[in-house]
Amino acid sequence: MRGSIDMSMAAAPKGTDLAAIRAFLLARPGVSAIHDLHVWPISTTETALTCHLVMPTRADDAFLMQTAQLLKTSFRIGHTTLQVETHPDNGCALAPDDVV
Ligand SMILES: [Zn+2]
Repeated sequence: MRGSIDMSMAAAPKGTDLAAIRAFLLARPGVSAIHDLHVWPISTTETALTCHLVMPTRADDAFLMQTAQLLKTSFRIGHTTLQVETHPDNGCALAPDDVV
């Protein structure tokens, strides 16, 4: 069931530059790695993003809000959900990789 839902939502909106989004997230201060990046349309005009950020020094609210705001202005992604993890070897990175 979970798999079929993921499959149906797997397609990124046309024009979405996942490589650029990945590069942007990796370039954010404090981010050492990312995984489980997903971008998908939630309506004809709205796009959602989820991603895990590995941040050994953790993240504060300002970082999360600024990142979401930049995703909105730079990539027109209006709904961002970020999961912060502090250890790169916590096993989570074994989850299915990015939708690219
Ligand atoms: Zn993770």
